[in-house]
Amino acid sequence: MTFPKPTSWPPDVTDERILDVAVIGGGPAGLMAAETVAKAGRSVAVFEKMPTFGRKFLMAGRGGLNLTHSEDFDRFATRYGERSATLRPMLEAFTPQDLVTWAEGLGQTTFVGASGRVFPKAMKASPLLRAWLSRLEDLGVSLRPRSTWRGWDAMGGLRIDDPNGRNTVRARVTILALGGASWPKLGSDAAWAPLLRVGGSEIAPFRPANCGFDVAWSTMFRDRFAGEPLKNIALRLGEARARGDAVIARYGLEGGAIYALGGAARDAALAGGATLTVDLRPDIPVETLERRLHAPRGGQSLANFLRKAVKLSPVEVNLLREAHGLDLPVEPAALAAAIKAAPIRLTGVQPLDRAISSAGGVRFESLDGLTLKGRPDVLLAGEMLDWEAPTGGYLLQACFATGVAAGRAALERLG
Ligand SMILES: Cc1cc2nc3c(=O)[nH]c(=O)nc-3n(C[C@H](O)[C@H](O)[C@H](O)COP(=O)(O)OP(=O)(O)OC[C@H]3O[C@@H](n4cnc5c(N)ncnc54)[C@H](O)[C@@H]3O)c2cc1C
Repeated sequence: MTFPKPTSWPPDVTDERILDVAVIGGGPAGLMAAETVAKAGRSVAVFEKMPTFGRKFLMAGRGGLNLTHSEDFDRFATRYGERSATLRPMLEAFTPQDLVTWAEGLGQTTFVGASGRVFPKAMKASPLLRAWLSRLEDLGVSLRPRSTWRGWDAMGGLRIDDPNGRNTVRARVTILALGGASWPKLGSDAAWAPLLRVGGSEIAPFRPANCGFDVAWSTMFRDRFAGEPLKNIALRLGEARARGDAVIARYGLEGGAIYALGGAARDAALAGGATLTVDLRPDIPVETLERRLHAPRGGQSLANFLRKAVKLSPVEVNLLREAHGLDLPVEPAALAAAIKAAPIRLTGVQPLDRAISSAGGVRFESLDGLTLKGRPDVLLAGEMLDWEAPTGGYLLQACFATGVAAGRAALERLG
């Protein structure tokens, strides 16, 4: 099966009704592709099925918009696991520093947080998005909300449903930036997948990424500690290692350190469960903990003793009880070891519609660069591609960088 091709190929370049570039999807990747094309003076329209643009981008700004990360570029470029080598040239062509310069050009001063993450001072996405949409309009980009792409007609035209009904849009180049599959109510629901499969594109199954893990907490622990943070802990799961903070959720565990465990940990939890090892005091050697635990306990409860001797908070003491159960030792050496390695059984992961991002999407093997095999006039960008990364600004950076790369590739194609 192949994709339908436009009847006159290449399209008649003298026909002014044909757009130079149609971008489908008005998230960060699509809008960035449109800006790149429009700056070169080409005609471009962005078709977005929701009533407004950038809904997931706005949601990303709710908890503080983490645009990118300030770490050394070579380290940054490894954050995409097995797709790091594929994405690296695009990240080099639109670096974290380029993203900061771009955001500041839209009036959004940025700062580097304690963890090296980069945020706009406003923390939110809304002022940035407002300024960006207004820049796009000034550049002549036609912004078309409530316009849903439904595939290609037999002549290779884009079938677009909008409030006026069904239209066919002709474009010399099309950039698809349709998003992944998490938080579908924000627009990116992966309903596009069958449209691309029809042409033979391989689409890796969507899985939740940067999602919470399920844990069968006791009712007491869940009721008392849901929402409580576990600060500065270290996590181990198979080969995966992570440092940072996590949060107790009613269903299990969530937060930056959990997300940083990455796809292998998620896949292990999905495949019938996995055991996470939590070090509650990663900066204190086990011998030091043991020495402190030799202090006389007297008549103190274990919780009080642990609070005074090694400053464990109530949630940490009770996490030890959840992890070790009746086996929680009292002897100092064993208790110190238990604090350094609390085993937590993960029974699954939270569903896609609650995940920050999705793994899976169009495999790079179905593309030449960002161009869809069999359709030299169709490019792809953003989270709909099969890559994943932890939180830390890596998601948006790759969406912006692939958007720029798709925009530049479209310009090359247009000659
Ligand atoms: C709660 C939350 C917090 C996040 N925080 C951060 C963060 O701090 N830092 C970070 O780097 N990342 C963060 N992310 C992830 C980031 O928002 C996404 O990776 C990014 O928005 C993906 O960009 P995109 O342009 O590829 O896709 P999207 O932003 O999903 O945009 C795709 C667009 O395509 C539209 N569309 C889909 N199908 C069609 C169709 N058939 N026709 C027309 N339009 C269509 C959708 O409506 C959507 O607007 C967060 C995500 C969530 C959910």
